[in-house]
Amino acid sequence: MLPPDLASLARALSLGLIPALQAPAFLSPQPVLSPAASACAVLRNTLGSTLVGFSGSGYNATATGAWNLFNSLDRPTCIVYPQTASDVQVTMRSIYEYGARYAVQAGGHSAMIGWNSITNGILISFENMTRVSYDANTNWISLEPGMRLSDAEIALEPHGISLIGGRATDVGVGLLLGGGISFAAPLYGWSADRIAEMDVVLVTGELVTASAANEHSDLFRALKGGANRFGIVTEFRIYAAKTGRKDEKRWFGGSVTYPGSANQALLKATVNYIKNVVDPKASAVISLNTLNISASDATILYVFYMGESLPRPIFGEFLSIPNTSQCFSPMSYFDLTSLVPGNARGNGQQFGSSSWLGDEETFLNGCNRFLRFTEAFAEPHLVASSLTISPIPVSQWEASLSGPNAMGNPGVPYASINFDLTYAPGEAVRPNDVDEGFKLMLTETPPSHGLPLFISESDTSQDVFETYGDLPFLMATYAKYDPTRFNMEHTDGPIGL
Ligand SMILES: Cc1cc2nc3c(=O)[nH]c(=O)nc-3n(C[C@H](O)[C@H](O)[C@H](O)COP(=O)(O)OP(=O)(O)OC[C@H]3O[C@@H](n4cnc5c(N)ncnc54)[C@H](O)[C@@H]3O)c2cc1C
Repeated sequence: MLPPDLASLARALSLGLIPALQAPAFLSPQPVLSPAASACAVLRNTLGSTLVGFSGSGYNATATGAWNLFNSLDRPTCIVYPQTASDVQVTMRSIYEYGARYAVQAGGHSAMIGWNSITNGILISFENMTRVSYDANTNWISLEPGMRLSDAEIALEPHGISLIGGRATDVGVGLLLGGGISFAAPLYGWSADRIAEMDVVLVTGELVTASAANEHSDLFRALKGGANRFGIVTEFRIYAAKTGRKDEKRWFGGSVTYPGSANQALLKATVNYIKNVVDPKASAVISLNTLNISASDATILYVFYMGESLPRPIFGEFLSIPNTSQCFSPMSYFDLTSLVPGNARGNGQQFGSSSWLGDEETFLNGCNRFLRFTEAFAEPHLVASSLTISPIPVSQWEASLSGPNAMGNPGVPYASINFDLTYAPGEAVRPNDVDEGFKLMLTETPPSHGLPLFISESDTSQDVFETYGDLPFLMATYAKYDPTRFNMEHTDGPIGL
């Protein structure tokens, strides 16, 4: 953290409140400000005190608001609250000029430590950029980056449309830059592949518009899965999906809970589902509780079908496994977007990922390896752990409305695997042994050959870009848009570029 005296000095400097600094240099040596304090002081002068905060209730609410407790403990040198793309340009120009460290926060849901928070650096918060609108002529949704995706869905529902975001209501636009998986992904594709255009501020402060068809098509593709490495998106324009109003119950489905004793049968059913189900109207996500596996509600399965019921040939194996409860009903797409809140805060969190082809042995070995890790490290550090399996059918790639994304279509059905740890409330730092044990577990449960990792559910230690279909393309695009490697050296994010 920046020492408080430097932070207040920066603030006082920016307000012109320090007469001593105007004394001759030989009487009073000029204090040397850190790059972040210098950039903050300039930004406070340029953008004003409403848009640049050093302390106070607004500053505290933003700094402590990240979903992951570990990220909510950072204290930025200052927080910038841009209202326009031009404010973001001004901010990036100063950050670049002073060589300051920085981070960007939208919905605050990153599980990765440091990806949306910073100490001794500048945090750009999008809380003031929350406009969403729909143009029926182009069928485009315009979305600013501070809007939570579920709030956007609420605003768009009266038009009978959706932007196709994710599965948890609390998540923000970082989801789109990670690819984005919704409950209807097999039908509508990766959420990012519905983006038509993005306005992007590059590290130097230059603003460009990127689309699949213009001179920045390389940047456009790299942003769709490139997370925070390729620029700051100040507006998304997204092809609207005509999903219908909330009273149009075009879907059927819900959740089933199973006891821990069902886990092995569920893994087998999941493998069969991944291998055999090609109907894009079908969707399933399975989340195995891996800490209290004997509990009666250990595992949750979400299943949906665009139709009036759950077809037996698709979901029969899942439904024949003895379960503790089922909750199914006719649903609108809007209902699907508001099912899972995912907003509980206050615990340290850690994600890791893998990608597995549909073969039973890989699933059983991987699941058992995670269980062994959990058994070894749960006490006293963890209060929950789960293994969530998202089947990724080939249709999810083929549904793209805006060309290929950064991940690269592997051409086979597989499952994206999320290992999720929730630390005990008192744990403010990840214990080294748990962290090391988790990383070892990840190296021993690697992605099957040729499958991309899902960047939004990975650990900071995982080289996700290396698993993408065309790493040389990504590296060349990164070098073109950030030739001085400023982003890699001044902000935390995915490794490997
Ligand atoms: C409970 C929970 C449920 C989830 N469910 C899903 C799901 O169903 N489907 C799915 O696909 N993912 C899901 N995720 C993962 C989620 O997509 C990622 O965590 C995502 O990055 C969160 O975006 P955010 O804006 O909320 O978070 P933030 O932490 O604010 O941002 C995430 C990353 O994106 C960067 N970023 C944000 N906005 C911009 C911008 N405008 N320009 C450049 N960089 C930016 C940030 O710097 C940060 O590195 C879930 C995560 C959690 C914790």
